[in-house]
Amino acid sequence: APSDQQWVHINGKLVPKAEAHLSIYDHGFLYGDGAFEGIRVYDGNIFRLEPHLTRLFRSVRALGIELCVDKPVLQQQIAELVRKNGHYSGYIRLSVSRGVGLGLDPAHIGKTPTLVISTEQLRLYPQEMYENGLHVITASTRVPPAVCIDPQIKSLGRYVNNIMAKMEANRMGAGEALMLNMQGYVAEATGDNIFVVSGGMLLTPPTTDGALPGITRQAVMDLARDMGIACRETSLTLYDVYNADEAFLTGTAAEVIPMVTCDQRKIGEGKPGRITQRIIAAFRELTKVDGLKV
Ligand code: PMP
Repeated sequence: APSDQQWVHINGKLVPKAEAHLSIYDHGFLYGDGAFEGIRVYDGNIFRLEPHLTRLFRSVRALGIELCVDKPVLQQQIAELVRKNGHYSGYIRLSVSRGVGLGLDPAHIGKTPTLVISTEQLRLYPQEMYENGLHVITASTRVPPAVCIDPQIKSLGRYVNNIMAKMEANRMGAGEALMLNMQGYVAEATGDNIFVVSGGMLLTPPTTDGALPGITRQAVMDLARDMGIACRETSLTLYDVYNADEAFLTGTAAEVIPMVTCDQRKIGEGKPGRITQRIIAAFRELTKVDGLKV
């Protein structure tokens, strides 16, 4: 549907996108107080919707926010919006904030959290980059330790940090930025998880090193198991990345994309590797079947 005929759900009400407004006292806007999800639809298949909803409900529970809908209702509203907007191949954004009220004390906020569902068309990188791979740099911006904000919470406010890191990548003409944790171990990229291939084995940092438990990351781990490729969650240093045979990033928006250099060191041959290409092909197939049909 043309953008002036698109709709969004705000707290369960269908509103034309062009007329969708939130309060200037919404806690998401005032303090980044909330959580979100980004979900892809592939040809009418909402990819791994259930784990996305589980992650959202866990994020908001950890933040002490109670949604006014349950999973089945939310699922129904999402499917309805996809059909109404005709975004059968696109991107769904679920945004939650604690609610409306000035002042940071949650005690002064109304009992109704804000929940917005929108759908978009989205292509993060040009096709050429999926074939030739991304150049990645290490950001000086670190991921916050779990004692500050747990990486498992897909929190709105946390992303100011990731945006700073992404600006570093932009400044250096790179496609993405790797972020390290306070101990110097690799955590993830600004909107993606990282995998390296070393000695025929897939390695990815554990969430305890500061990585979001990515849905695409899990899908790749499942595929690796099915393909007989060993996969382990283990701490990685930059040395491990520089010396990997292959590397790739995974995320809902970016999908699976090869990473061919890191801080101007070629990874392997400096071209997308064989295992990476096999994973990408298998992921493409999986997106057609694993999810909710609308
Ligand atoms: N890390 C961060 C910081 C992210 O924002 C994302 C995107 N949601 C990911 C990793 C990848 O997670 P997923 O595969 O669930 O999109």
